[in-house]
Amino acid sequence: MFLSIQADSDFSIHNLPFGIFSTRDRSARVGVAIGNAILDLYALAGLGLFPEIDPQVFQQKTLNDLIALGKKTTTALRLDLQRWLQEDLPLLRENPAAFVPQAEATMHLPIEIGDYTDFYSSIEHATNVGKMFRDPANALLPNWRHIPVGYHGRASSVVVSGTPVQRPCGQVKGKDEVLPQFQASARLDFELETGFIIGKATAMGQRIGTAEASEYIFGKVLLNDWSARDIQAWEYVPLGPFLAKNFATSISPWVVTMEALEPFRVAGPVQEPAVLPYLTYDGLQNYDLNLFVELQTSRGSSTEICRSNFKYMYWNMAQQLAHHTINGCNVRIGDLMGSGTISGPTPDSYGSMLELAWSGTQPIQLVNGSTRSFLEDGDTVTMRGYGLKDGVRVGFGAVQGQILPAIC
Ligand code: MN
Repeated sequence: MFLSIQADSDFSIHNLPFGIFSTRDRSARVGVAIGNAILDLYALAGLGLFPEIDPQVFQQKTLNDLIALGKKTTTALRLDLQRWLQEDLPLLRENPAAFVPQAEATMHLPIEIGDYTDFYSSIEHATNVGKMFRDPANALLPNWRHIPVGYHGRASSVVVSGTPVQRPCGQVKGKDEVLPQFQASARLDFELETGFIIGKATAMGQRIGTAEASEYIFGKVLLNDWSARDIQAWEYVPLGPFLAKNFATSISPWVVTMEALEPFRVAGPVQEPAVLPYLTYDGLQNYDLNLFVELQTSRGSSTEICRSNFKYMYWNMAQQLAHHTINGCNVRIGDLMGSGTISGPTPDSYGSMLELAWSGTQPIQLVNGSTRSFLEDGDTVTMRGYGLKDGVRVGFGAVQGQILPAIC
């Protein structure tokens, strides 16, 4: 291949994720990441490489129109690109304008998200939160092993990596206080998650079985479900998260296709007691994806504060989608489904500061000598993730956001 790609690049020839980018002289359009570069698909369409696809599909501010062409088309397109790159297709090799350095590009929110749902599918996370917020002896609520618990989030405040996040203001009430106060959140947190993007719509009344779920999932992103724990603790009874979550949710700019993630399928944990028939599934439905969270202070020093893995999830994506649609709820192209916080079995694999610092009782040590129980103004949270098997590496890049001070 004429492009040289570093061995530890997330964007290997095996990946080829889709995103929306622009540069000083290129309007927003569809790109595919390869190494440190972006393949400009609109430019490639202009060279006549995709004769069966309307070029306008590639000159859009989101991937929705491309995804709407269907998996048959988008999969073939990705495989063509893979083959052309591997074969050093002269049309690519001799057209430097087909490639843009990632360093020169601005990445945009890749999807017009109609609806956003967030699950709560890590048994370690749900157990940790149950121990801290409720009863250590009965940490999991009675429904948890029977239902992939979730809530409807807010699509309007989903932002792309790099967008700053302002500390929210809201109602909080301390344990010993009689009345709530209005103030800046003092317990601002992140949640390490992945999200999947719906690639095929259903009609109202139509169910998606676990066996056909993969037809409806286009690809995945990293997701940070920013959370204000003090606002959450006061507001969440009885209907669940509301303003503690919907001020911002960040996603990574590159959508990694499910086909690129195939090599990383693994078995999930045993589910006991047995789930209801509509939630049973066949095959390997979990994914071995290494996940990392790094916290950078405003002074610049960075500390890795979490190493987790998507394979730990108790409920898998097929079950989440089957459950989401079992009542006839329809899904649409571009809907975003968050996995829920991805915590593992060991304390260094907990996917939120709430758990890592155990509700403020065990502050995290940073490399610069300071400590954190929750996020401070100026802190930057960066999440990364990749699969690696038999020398094949497929990664997501990063989702990053810096905390700006509240204005209450
Ligand atoms: Mn969440």
